[in-house]
Amino acid sequence: MTRVVEADHDPASGRGQMAQLIVPTDAPGVNIVRGVGIWGRPTSDHVEVRYEDVRVPASNLLGAVGQGHQAAQDRLGAGRVFHCMNSIGQMWRAFDLMVERATTRTVHGGPLQDKQFVQGFIADSYMDISAARLMTIQAAERVARNDRGARTDISSIKVFVPAAYSRVVDRAIQVWGAAGVSSDLPLSGMYLGARTLRLADGPDEVHKVLIAKHVLDRYATEGGWDFGN
Ligand SMILES: Cc1cc2nc3c(=O)[nH]c(=O)nc-3n(C[C@H](O)[C@H](O)[C@H](O)COP(=O)(O)OP(=O)(O)OC[C@H]3O[C@@H](n4cnc5c(N)ncnc54)[C@H](O)[C@@H]3O)c2cc1C
Repeated sequence: MTRVVEADHDPASGRGQMAQLIVPTDAPGVNIVRGVGIWGRPTSDHVEVRYEDVRVPASNLLGAVGQGHQAAQDRLGAGRVFHCMNSIGQMWRAFDLMVERATTRTVHGGPLQDKQFVQGFIADSYMDISAARLMTIQAAERVARNDRGARTDISSIKVFVPAAYSRVVDRAIQVWGAAGVSSDLPLSGMYLGARTLRLADGPDEVHKVLIAKHVLDRYATEGGWDFGN
């Protein structure tokens, strides 16, 4: 996998001091306490685990001692880009549904597509999807080039894309009216998924802190940020 995060051995942050271990679920002392429901639904793969004096052989070490944080970031960096790519596909689907409803539903003497509120939903969603897509392509290209700006872009899309996804799905639901929240359409599931993505793989606030840190570091060392020509 492409390494997108610079080595970081800052003792104050604890980075460079972490290790990851593979712990089999049948190892003595691993206790699955309970499944944790998500959005009111039971799940089988989100569980509370209690570790009690668990021991595993040193051969279960993932990578080297001190590279635990790096190993996590290697997976998460690419994973966040994949999540955003997936979200863009979902936004597009929601957009298709919004336009379908706007062009077929008539209310108060005319089709929804002629109402300026609905035209605003379509225009705002077009911009959200376009911006999300272009930002994600830029981040993926920087990851592929092992560009030092990749980490900033990954955090940027991790914040921007789920928020844009939420906005687009929210508008699609509104255009569909009550049907939008029914189980006849995939929009309610998308809505919950988009909201969850603002937490999973790091909450918005943590990524914004990182973006600001990278920008401020660059201003301090190089006098500015290069957004390109
Ligand atoms: C459905 C789902 C699936 C998940 N799957 C995985 C998985 O497969 N693997 C995995 O490792 N994790 C997974 N997570 C965990 C997820 O990454 C964490 O929930 C997330 O990083 C937030 O951590 P936390 O829940 O401990 O909240 P906390 O760290 O307690 O944060 C709570 C809130 O505090 C605020 N906050 C936190 N830090 C700061 C800060 N520095 N500055 C300002 N505000 C801050 C934010 O608003 C944040 O939402 C999953 C989460 C969900 C919801």
